[in-house]
Order: sequence, then C-alpha cells, then structure tokens
Amino acid sequence: MKDSNFLKENNGRYMWHPMTSPQDSHDNTPKIITGSSGVSVSDIDGHSVVDAVGGLWNVNLGYSCQPVKDAIANQLDTLPYYSTFRGTSNDAAIELSYELAQFFEPDGLSRAFFTSGGSDSVETALRLARQYHKLRGEAGRTKFLSLKKGYHGTHMGGASVNGNANFRTAYEPLLPGCFHIPAPYTYRNPFNETDPERLAQLCVQALEDEIEFQGAGTIAAMIMEPILGAGGVIPPHKSFAPMVQEICNRNGILLITDEVITAYGRTGAWSGARLWGIKPDMMATAKAITNGFFPFGAVMMGERMVETFESDPNARIGHGYTYSGHPVGAAAALACLAETKRLNVVENAAARGTQLFEGCKALMEKYDIIGDVRGGHGLMTAIEMVSDRATKKPIDAMTASKVYEGAYAAGALVRVSGPNLILSPPLVLTEADANTILNALDAGFASL
Ligand SMILES: *Cc1c(COP(=O)(O)O)cnc(C)c1O
Repeated sequence: MKDSNFLKENNGRYMWHPMTSPQDSHDNTPKIITGSSGVSVSDIDGHSVVDAVGGLWNVNLGYSCQPVKDAIANQLDTLPYYSTFRGTSNDAAIELSYELAQFFEPDGLSRAFFTSGGSDSVETALRLARQYHKLRGEAGRTKFLSLKKGYHGTHMGGASVNGNANFRTAYEPLLPGCFHIPAPYTYRNPFNETDPERLAQLCVQALEDEIEFQGAGTIAAMIMEPILGAGGVIPPHKSFAPMVQEICNRNGILLITDEVITAYGRTGAWSGARLWGIKPDMMATAKAITNGFFPFGAVMMGERMVETFESDPNARIGHGYTYSGHPVGAAAALACLAETKRLNVVENAAARGTQLFEGCKALMEKYDIIGDVRGGHGLMTAIEMVSDRATKKPIDAMTASKVYEGAYAAGALVRVSGPNLILSPPLVLTEADANTILNALDAGFASL
C-alpha cells in the first residue's frame, strides 16, 4: 500500500466521487478506510469506529463474514464468469434463483431477474412493467408514479422517479410521464398533518387524485420504498402500504416495491412487503444480497408478471446486463442468504433497532438540535437536526458536520445526509455496539 500522505494527497486528484463535488473531494480529505473487523472499520490513521452506516446499508452481516468470503474465493477458482444470456447459464445463478423463490414465497414472488446493483434492479422493474402492459394489449400504460423523498438509484429511469431534486435537476430532462405523490412524512408535509394515520389517508387521496387526473389507463406502475431510506428514514403509518396496494390493484397499475434497502431483514422483517402485509408485483433488491462484497441485485416477480410473461411465446425480454447472474455474485448471495437465515438476523435487527431508536429519543430530551427521531422498524433510524425546534429550520451543513466529526472521534461512523443523521448499522450489531453508537452521538452533540 502507498503511504498515508500519498493516499491523502491523491484522493481527489484523479478520482471523482459520487454525490460530491470534485472540488470538495480535493479540498477535504474524506475518511480513508483501510481495514475492517466485525461491525467496525478503521481508517488510514489507525482510528477504529463502529460502522453505524453498515457500508451503505449493505454490510448486514458485518465485515468478517467468512462464509461469504469463502464462497467468493471458491467460485473464483471454479468459474469466475459466465453469462446467463440466451444459450448459456451457470450453476450458481440457477441455484440462487431456486433459493430466492423459496425465500420470497411468502411475498408471492417466484422468479428472479439478476442485475449488478440497485439502480439496475429499479431500471429492470420499470422496463418490465411497460412490457407487461404491452404484452397484455394495454400499450398506453407507460407512466410511472412514485413518492416525493423516494430514492430509486441513478439510472435515467430511476432518477426520473426519484423524489429528491438533488438527484434530478442537473440531469434533466428526465423521462416524461413520471409523477410524484406527497410522502407520508409526518414531521414535514404539505397538509400540516401531524397524525400519521390521517396523513397516510391524505397521501393516498393524493395518489387517487393523480391517477384520476392522468387516467388509470396511462399508468404502468407505482414504485415505492416500504420505508423511505435515503430520503431520511421515513416509515409510513402501517395503513399506508396496504391502501396503496389496493388502489394500484383496483386501477390495473403494477406495484413495485423498491427494497434495495429493506429486503433481507433490515426492517426486522424479511422484506418490507412482509412488514406491511402487501404483495408487490415486482420487488427490486440489491445491496445486502451479497453483504456488499460483490455488486449484485435481483428483481423478484409476482404472479401477474409470471403469468403474462410465461404464457406468451413472443414475450422476449430485450433487457439484461453482461453481469446478470454473475456466478461470483450468485455464489456470494447464496452464502449470504444461508448465513442471514442461520443467524435469523431479523430478530436482532428488531431488538437492536428498538434500542437505537429509544436511545436516539433519549438524546432528543437532551439536545434541542434534534427536531425529529424516526425509526422503530429494525435497524433504520434517523435523527433530523434543526437550528430551531419551533420553526423546524434545518441545520446548516457546518453544524451537521461537527456532530459527525464529534461522533467519529468518539467511536462511531454515522452518515450525514442533509439535515439527517442516518443510522443503518450491520444487523449483527451487539447491545454493546449499539451503546457505542449512542454514546458517540451523545459526544457529537455535546461537542457543539
Ligand atoms: C441504494 C438504493 C438504490 C440504488 O442502488 P445502487 O446499488 O446504488 O445502484 C435504489 N433504491 C434504493 C431504495 C436504494 O437505497
């Protein structure tokens, strides 16, 4: 490895970072992570912290997960690559499709289409939604609905359904025919509604109104995260997703759940769909599917998709990636799935999630800078910071970054996203690890 000064000086010199300005990466050296163990990572200066970000919501089983590493190494030795395009397949991808069909059976999902990540999975679901309607003779159904505050990756389709201007404006014009519904975000919403259940009804009414305005026969699909993740961990009232499902069904609109974060246990349920008791037509997954160790994703298909695509000899899927069903990714996912089930991670995600959520609420008693604490469904928690609780004025970036640095110095890496501190640690977190995160946050706030 090059020495520490070389790495620090060159970070922003030859590499453009995602979601950052090149000037910023040039002027401010980020944490350069060089090592890991369990749920912790260590930086180039030898400082070790609990990774409360869990990589990027993906390292659910921690960094030391040996079965996944072994599976990757073994697969590299036997078959490092083979495609699943027409005419060939590979054993790992076949076995994984079988296992995923069992895993998602309770969600009514029985077929997999493999991708190289979350954005690919979203793109696949949007495309196949349009094709579904064409196959059924409803070629006019081309539009998409989604939630404001939603994050659906950065491909052109995903960016078009994204509900955050930061990922849109610079890249417009995006896909025509994408419309956004208010998010069930109790702390801030256009209705000034503070009751989550009534807010869910208002958002659902807005969805009905938009469908009527556009014409149901022009809409292909609604895509949404079961719990808005990158938008600031916004869990809806439990009545919300079932109402959305009912409206989609009644109007012939496919429901896609974007579960790139929520699938495989993060919410304390095996999927977001199962958490809310809904059955989507498609589910986009990625991130934790390989514990972050290999870029991979899977879109799961429900009954309607299966019937339509499998009953028509002309239903050729004109879509796919060179790395769809990559054997190394598939082997990693197989090991990951086995380990996820063996450790029954949902139980620990729920218990540690409650601990973090309650701990953050206790911090809110102590620090006025905390305007809202959201979570309560597994290991997805956010602290929204304000400079004034009464007006809910968002915190400035400088103060947010001080909290982040204070927490880092005290032993936890957290994620700052706008005014939010987001906590999405590995699902194998211990009670002591969770306390380390809470104490580090306490120190971060106290440092202001
Ligand atoms: C991360 C994420 C994506 C995009 O996944 P990539 O692997 O970054 O392409 C899509 N949807 C949601 C909900 C995500 O959190």
